[in-house]
Amino acid sequence: MAECLFCAIVAGEIPATTVLETDRILAFRDINPQAPTHVLVIPKEHYPDVSALAAADGGLLGEVITGVHRVAEMQGVSQDGYRVVFNTGAHAGQTVPHVHGHLLGGRSLTWPPG
Ligand code: AMP
Ligand code: ZN
Repeated sequence: MAECLFCAIVAGEIPATTVLETDRILAFRDINPQAPTHVLVIPKEHYPDVSALAAADGGLLGEVITGVHRVAEMQGVSQDGYRVVFNTGAHAGQTVPHVHGHLLGGRSLTWPPG
């Protein structure tokens, strides 16, 4: 069993509801959705946060962002708009140390966030 929760999902050791998969990224539904559409998009390779991914492989970060927009289109929220969030570190409330973009959509989202 992988030590990292999202590496375990990539390995198929923990079930998830996949909405998009390529050779390098995986998108699956958040288990505790905060909006009608709440999907997490991750690189299959482990990086602790978005800054580590950007420093190591900017192309892969681009694939994650492209994946977010593809999922937004597939879920029908790209026209009305959506939010992409990379919680990074303790003050942002990052709980899983495997970089993930939250795609949030399907309702109006307030600003500033909490
Ligand atoms: P963050 O707080 O930004 O690190 O986000 C972690 C997200 O992972 C939270 O929104 C959780 O609801 C979500 N999460 C935790 N465990 C699972 C799981 N097994 N499958 C899908 N999403 C999960
Ligand atoms: Zn991981």
